Amino acid sequence: MYKIMTAGPTQVRENVRMARSLECTNPDLDPDFFDFYKETCQLLSKAVNTDNEALILGGEGILGLEAACASLTEQGDRVLVIDNGVFGKGFADFVKMYGGEPVSFVSDYHRPVDLDELKAFLEKDSNFKYATVVHLDTPSGVINDVEKISRLLDSYGIMTVADSVAGLFGEKLDLSNSKIDILCGGSQKALSCPPGLTMLWVSDRAFEAMENRKTPIAAFYANILNFKGYYVKKVFPYTMPISDIYGLRAALDNFFEMQDTIYDRHARIAKATRMALQEGGIGLYLEDGFSNNATAVLIPEGMTEKDILEGMEKDYNIMISGCFDVLAGVVVRIGHMGENAYEDKVAETLKALQGTLEKKGFDVKCDLEETFRNNLK
Ligand SMILES: *Cc1c(COP(=O)(O)O)cnc(C)c1O
Repeated sequence: MYKIMTAGPTQVRENVRMARSLECTNPDLDPDFFDFYKETCQLLSKAVNTDNEALILGGEGILGLEAACASLTEQGDRVLVIDNGVFGKGFADFVKMYGGEPVSFVSDYHRPVDLDELKAFLEKDSNFKYATVVHLDTPSGVINDVEKISRLLDSYGIMTVADSVAGLFGEKLDLSNSKIDILCGGSQKALSCPPGLTMLWVSDRAFEAMENRKTPIAAFYANILNFKGYYVKKVFPYTMPISDIYGLRAALDNFFEMQDTIYDRHARIAKATRMALQEGGIGLYLEDGFSNNATAVLIPEGMTEKDILEGMEKDYNIMISGCFDVLAGVVVRIGHMGENAYEDKVAETLKALQGTLEKKGFDVKCDLEETFRNNLK
């Protein structure tokens, strides 16, 4: 087994794995399971400080992105796609698939979305039903201020769909300080569950928009409205993956136990990682907007993604992420979120990266592990 230090999925704590082996009831029929599901959703709302209803959908994080677009988009709707990263750009596909007309606001992939530039764009064109934006665009690791962006969009009467699959639980997000109508999360990033679940936080305004559609939602599995009133009616749209949800609950309990320190730990680990890499003369992709959950490292000239990934796997048994789309072959990524975000694990990863780069002839200018540890003190 590799030690997975990827930008998601992340390592899973033993108590989460054990919770997934608990005895199962019939989740369609047992009222206790409806209570358990609802309480778990209430904890999810509490985790991001909101009264908005949280829902857990049976399907990996992408399902949430698709469900948000499927449930809001009607034929011909104009949707603003805020694109400063690969996932940001990708929303346009979901919008199109459900009959919408995506209009992209493209900005530099090396930095966060600039609010003044977005405002200038909106001054000229703000006729959008909703906008999509990514909190942490994992391929580059850039973090966008989605609280402020959503408030700006709201001031133009535009709803916000925000993807924080890779941000939540490592990057603090206060939903009550935002105008995010549908927030998307996933189980396998900083919450450190196995992949398999989507979490959504849905505002009343978003539910109203779905209910007031002229045409029915062109999806079943991706239809958020199918969940409305599940607790009163005691019906789920489909049988819930009960073991996955037991695991998610255990991971949430872990989160609440650590909530006073977790964000600070992520921030410190991320900063020390960057400082070590920079001192070692290893390039970082971003110029600004570094996230606490993942770091995109430029692949040194003369090397390939495969050289680095295979070297680390074969010689050190550590797996980090490559990249895809426009960043394929440009960066490799260290995921330091959730259960990965501990000093020893990241130190071991940096040591392995150093050994791998040096074996390929790259001169690392400091001891990465030592520099990392010193910067944590
Ligand atoms: C991981 C991730 C998702 C879910 O996508 P998968 O690649 O299928 O895991 C969605 N959005 C972002 C920003 C992510 O990092």
